[in-house]
Amino acid sequence: MTRLARHTAALVRCARCPRLVAYRESCEGTKRAFAGETYWARPVPGFGDPAARVVLVGLAPAAHGANRTGRMFTGDGTDGMGSSDFLMRALHATGFANLPTSKSADDGLALTDLWMTASVRCAPPDNKPTPDEIAACADWLAREIELLPNVRVVVALGKLAFDRVLALFAARGATIPRPRTRFGHGAEVDLGAAFPRVVASYHPSRQNTQTRKLSPGMLADVFRRAREIGLTPAATASSPSRRAPRPPPPSAPSRGR
Ligand code: SF4
Repeated sequence: MTRLARHTAALVRCARCPRLVAYRESCEGTKRAFAGETYWARPVPGFGDPAARVVLVGLAPAAHGANRTGRMFTGDGTDGMGSSDFLMRALHATGFANLPTSKSADDGLALTDLWMTASVRCAPPDNKPTPDEIAACADWLAREIELLPNVRVVVALGKLAFDRVLALFAARGATIPRPRTRFGHGAEVDLGAAFPRVVASYHPSRQNTQTRKLSPGMLADVFRRAREIGLTPAATASSPSRRAPRPPPPSAPSRGR
């Protein structure tokens, strides 16, 4: 078993946050559109290309999306307007995804040069994890990024993910530039050659997409920029993460509990 696969196997057994454990397991059977489905109802592992140069960090699984399907940004909504589909259209348009939709763990979606993960791995009530829950989950994200050897850029979806990613790299010795970069769509933070560049994006939540605060073109522009950064030759080869061995893909999470 690879280190990334071992990480995934440990993550999906995590039960550190009693409130989130209770909530993730209570969602099944509460939404008519998914009546009769067995929910994943566990922590949701990262998904994508283990050789990725681009890592996408979201907030947390949706109660009836990733918490149901067991795959990041998958299946949240039935009208094609959920975060998953909005995001996947942008990833497909920019060549990171082979499909413009993300419906289920067995829909054939494959990502190239991109890994999707989240700041918190269990669905929180009202999409709002508490500060203690965010802190409790921090090392899962840190470890996962550490196990992706080629990462050059991290795209943070939303302010919470942006703050979390900067805190993660600061804890690993990165100097956060002063004055501190304010969160905003397209904002970038250069942490130096030893760390990935951080690019901020508005989160593709319905609240943002239906009010046109975030348009499809705006989201696609962020991924075009991420690709550009990812393709730029590294200024140095001294990054610890770049020296790490490249793990093969993790096995897909099994459905059901
Ligand atoms: Fe574990 Fe993170 Fe889920 Fe809390 S949110 S139970 S730390 S996986």
